Amino acid sequence: MKHISVSLWPLLFFLFAMNAWATETKVTSTAPVTSAARVRLDGGFQNAPQCNLWRAALQEELKTLQYPPGWTITVTCLRSYWDTARRNADSPRTNTAFSKLRGRTTVLNGEIFQQSRPFYRGIIAHELGHIKCDCADEATAERIAWELQHPLESKDSSEAATTGK
Ligand SMILES: [Zn+2]
Repeated sequence: MKHISVSLWPLLFFLFAMNAWATETKVTSTAPVTSAARVRLDGGFQNAPQCNLWRAALQEELKTLQYPPGWTITVTCLRSYWDTARRNADSPRTNTAFSKLRGRTTVLNGEIFQQSRPFYRGIIAHELGHIKCDCADEATAERIAWELQHPLESKDSSEAATTGK
């Protein structure tokens, strides 16, 4: 009896592995739909549970705020990683996010995801505004960000403008 139960282990392991493989395959086949941008966590190991939630929140927004293919978005999971990232980028005057257009990277202070959804969505859209205009101008980035967040209204207003209403 003991001999039989021991010999079942390889089979059980095989079934478990097959199940894990099937689950993994399902996940990877749907993942590319969300965004072409690559998301990486900075300091995720130390603060993993919270940071994984922040990444999930970001990926939800990336479905409608689509960053270009090949773009890298870094989420800092700890304040110290944000401070270091800022220093390495010549200390831009921000406590939320910055983008290096030439380096095709955006760094988000993960703490923005502790604020309301409109707040962090606005920041993600603002950085995308910089990327789309390929400029550092804040007003232009903000205008594009508004249009990205209000696609129906900005369409209505352009229609109103062309029809003279
Ligand atoms: Zn800006």
